[in-house]
Amino acid sequence: MNKCIYCKKQNTEGFKGVEHVIPQSFGKFSSKTPTLKCVCDECNAYFSKELDLLLARDTLEGVTRSKKGITSQAKNPPKSLKFRLEEVPENGEFGGALIGGPDPVTGQHRPLLPQFWIKNIQTEDWEKYQIAEIKNIVITDEKYGPATPGNRNMKVMGPSQEKYDEVLNELKKYNIPFRVTDTLKEIPFLKDVDPEGKVIVRGTTDGKLNKTHRRAFAKVLFNFATYYISQEETLKTEWDEARNFIRYDSEALKWRVSQKPFWNGQEHGNLRFQNDSYNIRIENQNGNVVGVIQIYNLFTHEAILVENYQLPSEYEIAYRFTPGEKPYLGIKMSKPNWQ
Ligand SMILES: [Zn+2]
Repeated sequence: MNKCIYCKKQNTEGFKGVEHVIPQSFGKFSSKTPTLKCVCDECNAYFSKELDLLLARDTLEGVTRSKKGITSQAKNPPKSLKFRLEEVPENGEFGGALIGGPDPVTGQHRPLLPQFWIKNIQTEDWEKYQIAEIKNIVITDEKYGPATPGNRNMKVMGPSQEKYDEVLNELKKYNIPFRVTDTLKEIPFLKDVDPEGKVIVRGTTDGKLNKTHRRAFAKVLFNFATYYISQEETLKTEWDEARNFIRYDSEALKWRVSQKPFWNGQEHGNLRFQNDSYNIRIENQNGNVVGVIQIYNLFTHEAILVENYQLPSEYEIAYRFTPGEKPYLGIKMSKPNWQ
């Protein structure tokens, strides 16, 4: 008899599929890749479609994965992430321009997107729009200045003359007056080619962490707790809030994202482990059970998995996962467990 840790469905024959504690898209951990046999096939299929894909492709952690040589065949760019050229001198007036996300196969950023910029005189910021967003722009004198020629600050950018003209056509279609004073400018960073013929650009990524992203991280934490503590533990009703949040999108768990180091005592500030590891731990914190996860040194996510509940201290556990290597048991330095 087996009971699913997410929907609590029972199956006398056990479940066919296995659930990977860390989604497979993040790699394998030698012969010790942790998997669970206590997730039913229905939950398993739901997770791989709704949460694992999102974690792998639509988070900073997932995008970083492709830079680390873990690639996927996904064609569409991530939805929650925006990529911009860094505002540094070598990018000239293209600093801040919207660029395509990394190619999931090569990990290389795709270049400039066709775009329209208009300066908002109230905020003094350049608003930047991709072609598809142009139809939503509402031009008012208060926001962008009076319509007298040369008064409004606007820019059009595109990776080719054809794409540049597409932006102009879209502006015309929605009656946004843009006076073409010059044609396509040469993009300075396209000259910066390395010996392998790759263009080097410096960019930044802005990401939004929404509830579904948090559920995807929470599932990794819940899986981890089940694998390294026990199925018996996470099947307790105390864990229902976390379980229902992950499986049924119910009320969100309390969550905190920071850039603080993961391992107490072993690293501080920017001194972090250099390798491509994923750090996960479950611990008692201020009377709650907290799950902590950090991938590629990016962000430290802390989630209250169970409120007003304590694990026996021998259940508090931390592991470091590096693709291709066996999971490495971490030791909480603030509470040494050796003599
Ligand atoms: Zn289930």
